[in-house]
Amino acid sequence: MESVASFLASEHPTAFSFEILPPLRGKSINNTYADLDRLVEFNPAYINITTHRTEVTYRHIGGGSYRQATSRRRPGTVAIAAVIRERYGVRPVPHIICGEYSRREIEDQLIDLSYLGINDILVLRGDRERSASTFICDPDGHEHAASLADQIVDFNRGIMADGTEAEPVFPPFTFGVAGYPEKHEEAMNAQIDLINLKHKVDAGASYVVTQMFFDNEKYFDFVKRARESGITVPIVPGIKPLTSLRQLSLIPRVFHIDLPPVLAERLLQCKTDEDVREVGVEWAIAQARELKAAAVPSIHFYAMHAVQSVARIAKEVY
Ligand code: FAD
Repeated sequence: MESVASFLASEHPTAFSFEILPPLRGKSINNTYADLDRLVEFNPAYINITTHRTEVTYRHIGGGSYRQATSRRRPGTVAIAAVIRERYGVRPVPHIICGEYSRREIEDQLIDLSYLGINDILVLRGDRERSASTFICDPDGHEHAASLADQIVDFNRGIMADGTEAEPVFPPFTFGVAGYPEKHEEAMNAQIDLINLKHKVDAGASYVVTQMFFDNEKYFDFVKRARESGITVPIVPGIKPLTSLRQLSLIPRVFHIDLPPVLAERLLQCKTDEDVREVGVEWAIAQARELKAAAVPSIHFYAMHAVQSVARIAKEVY
């Protein structure tokens, strides 16, 4: 199988790809299988699997007391990546995050993946801890995705986290990074955000996957600005079908993304999640058709909690 990086750089019709979350800790993998069974029929070029940091949780232990604990709510990324390849024969793209990990812990993840022959990854800083106002990394970890990218490139060349030399990795890891058509929430302005994106590409990223957007003009403008800044790698648009009333305030607040006026007007008429789902599918079909007509390399669907919607969209568009 060729790498996702070379596939995206090659001549091909607009591909279908999507992203899933590992199950919550303690839940079986069967729902994940059901989701994958539903979507693999549309012949995805690759499937991304998110990675989630350790969170602080508080469990009520009676008498008004709570016990603090730390755990990863969604472990299992690497195992699900292996399942996707073995069970479905599709190229998996697990996400690697700076999170709270030290360089040595990240190296251990890279070793596991290289032994499994999984060499396509998406390199990210990761979300901040939910109760924290800023992202805090391990003292021996990475503050930004570009620095994590440097570690991966070193690892490919056989330079370990402690600086010692090892065997170069073959085949080497190739990776994509995240881009933000509407700017990352923490960036002082769009131009600085683009400079930081360029650092990630210069560090070795072969492609960019965008944050979700609901106005294709934002994506087209982002690609134009990226090209003007000297970013030449493929830029894959990310699309999320809306599925619930709750998302209408959550998405603008959490992801700092605007819903365009025409969409917002239609959503204001929605009374139930089902109403939102219908508008979400219709809107995403229109977005995907326009992106496909513009010959984007792939359309990357954020399928979490939206598998049935993504299946309906894929059926219409591919
Ligand atoms: P970075 O590229 O490090 O950028 C973070 C911020 O720092 C930006 O504002 C940037 O402009 C700024 N910056 C970058 N470099 C520097 C520098 N040298 N100096 C100063 N500022 C700098 N989160 C998860 O936890 N798990 C996932 O699996 C996951 N998957 C994702 C998939 C996609 C396609 C996308 C778009 C996002 C995903 N996220 C995930 C969310 C992502 O981790 C967050 O958006 C995070 O806040 C930023 O990640 P990044 O890799 O873009 O960070």
